[in-house]
Amino acid sequence: MENKAVVNRIIPFSNVDGPGNRLAIFFQGCNIRCVYCHNPETINHCINCGECVIKCPTKAIKNIDGKVNFEEKVCAECDQCIRTCRFNSSPRTTLYSAQELYNIIDEYKLFIRGITVSGGEPTLRADFITELFKMVRPLGLTCFVDTNGFFDKDEIAELIKVTDKFMVDIKAVDKIQSLCETKLKNNIENLKYLLSMDKVYEVRTVLIEDYMDIENTVTTVANILKDYPEVIYKLIRVHAAGLSDAEKDKIKAKIPSEAYVRQLAEKVKDIGVKNIELII
Ligand code: SF4
Ligand code: SF4
Repeated sequence: MENKAVVNRIIPFSNVDGPGNRLAIFFQGCNIRCVYCHNPETINHCINCGECVIKCPTKAIKNIDGKVNFEEKVCAECDQCIRTCRFNSSPRTTLYSAQELYNIIDEYKLFIRGITVSGGEPTLRADFITELFKMVRPLGLTCFVDTNGFFDKDEIAELIKVTDKFMVDIKAVDKIQSLCETKLKNNIENLKYLLSMDKVYEVRTVLIEDYMDIENTVTTVANILKDYPEVIYKLIRVHAAGLSDAEKDKIKAKIPSEAYVRQLAEKVKDIGVKNIELII
């Protein structure tokens, strides 16, 4: 049977998913659940419960033989289905083969520098993405992976080989369980491994109080990155925009001050990191 993957969305032109203009593909499914997740509808695969079907004002979602079917051209993008879903999923997904994605990428190839796969957590579909990257690289496009850092490096060895660069989130080096609802702990080990192979474009840490030891995480990463001057370290102050009202209140109380983030950036610079970006 043909290898297919569930894609949440495709952005033909993005300038925040790596260098230059890039086509970004967001795969469905994640292995962690961050407290500040801004795309919770990408976490789980739809279980076809049908609850969102009756909420759709344009009948873009239908229940066909017990399976939810999405028709993009009649979707009003009102997000009512996503607000309805209690399972951190979305009915607005599409099943693609690597050839079908390649055909879309081929249409845009003259206008982009490369493609970036994101999610969700794209390494969960390493087999599929390896196949896709092998098809796309001969087009002269660079292939990037945006990862949360929690993967088995042996299981994704083939993907690492065909990936130009990774963009790695280091969510935290401590308290990961409360921040990301996971027992996984190998993000720093994986970062070091990818750095040793010259496969890292940037590292990002979202700064949130109490759920992580900000200082410990940031200085740990800085002490690793000081030996890799070309790698960007992006410090991002957590924000509450786009979250539900209940989550907004929870996050708002944990946003570090702008002054503190600037102070932290100075510290990172003093440690020896050359390439720092602040999102505040
Ligand atoms: S966003 Fe969801 S509920 Fe709204 S029109 Fe599209 S499919 Fe229907
Ligand atoms: S998207 Fe959510 S609410 Fe809709 S059918 Fe799937 S699991 Fe149920």
